[in-house]
Amino acid sequence: MKLKSIKEWGVANDKPFVISGPCSAETKEQVLAIAHELKAAGISVFRAGVWKPRTRPNSFEGVGVESLSWLQQVQKETGMLVAVEVANEKHVKLALKAGIDILWIGARTSVNPFAVQEIADALVGQDIPVLVKNPINPDLDLWIGAVERINLAGINKIAAIHRGFSSYEPTKYRNAPNWQIPIELKRRIPNLPILCDPSHIGGTRALIAPLSQKALDLDMDGLMIESHNTPDLAWSDAKQQITPNTLKEIIDNLIKREVKPMNVSLTDLEDLRHRIDNLDKELLNMLGKRMKCVKEIGQYKKDNDMTILQFKRWDSILKTRVSQGLSLGLSEKSVMMIFKAIHQESINTQEAILSKPDSK
Ligand code: PEP
Ligand code: MN
Repeated sequence: MKLKSIKEWGVANDKPFVISGPCSAETKEQVLAIAHELKAAGISVFRAGVWKPRTRPNSFEGVGVESLSWLQQVQKETGMLVAVEVANEKHVKLALKAGIDILWIGARTSVNPFAVQEIADALVGQDIPVLVKNPINPDLDLWIGAVERINLAGINKIAAIHRGFSSYEPTKYRNAPNWQIPIELKRRIPNLPILCDPSHIGGTRALIAPLSQKALDLDMDGLMIESHNTPDLAWSDAKQQITPNTLKEIIDNLIKREVKPMNVSLTDLEDLRHRIDNLDKELLNMLGKRMKCVKEIGQYKKDNDMTILQFKRWDSILKTRVSQGLSLGLSEKSVMMIFKAIHQESINTQEAILSKPDSK
């Protein structure tokens, strides 16, 4: 995919690239007050939701087109760039006409290929950065598909925003981070910059600093963080917004670790990595042997008309493995996760054996 790095966008040179501002533009005074405070805190890109996708009707759905002129005033008074969320062709046209500098596609929009295509079509011939939030469901191909649609419209200043994924079961996060998904995105499209939105992942102020640090430690390129001059009084997402001062403190305290090139001599780390490579080889050898045994058991079950799942046996495997794992310093959660995955693979293998017609 032909993409430009954030440095080549010509919007900011700092890493992490930070975008901040309120969840929603509420009033002209609120927008300008926050923008000036952010500018003083060293932020160069201001965000504000103008059209808000709300889960339930009768929530505050954004001021709409009228607030675009407040953002123009932010540009004039502070020299900051401004970013808004767009969810359809009309939003794109109005934002472009107002001279908005950066657009983003929200999580409830990137889930819908029709809407993303409509936005992409409205962007043909433009040269504006577009940020694509992950869809609310943990579907990497859908996220990549949204990025591809925007790219096919000729936009090459694109970044993904990781904002976490919905789950029915409550977790300590508002949206579960599922870090493996943005990591796999980076592996699949290495030149696509990724920003993290710890505000919508965390849902509460206390989680913003640790989530931001984690994002940097995963080598993400930037952060989109919601901020407000009076966070408790915000008209949307009050619990997760922080003041520009707190934002500055969080950013100043982030530890910027580096990705070291694989070939520099880091003897200790290299030795340890070598050991890990060998241990992984052994692990895979053992898993291969285990699977051979699983196949023989599958054949035995088939010959003797036995079910694949013998629940008592599975229950006892899990219990003994967990207690063995605990004594080796592994957590119950990780042993369960590993053995459930191994067990699922065994079931699939035995299923294939049982469903194969007997050779005469
Ligand atoms: C937002 O950025 O305010 C927003 C609505 O986020 P998301 O699309 O991630 O829910
Ligand atoms: Mn929000």
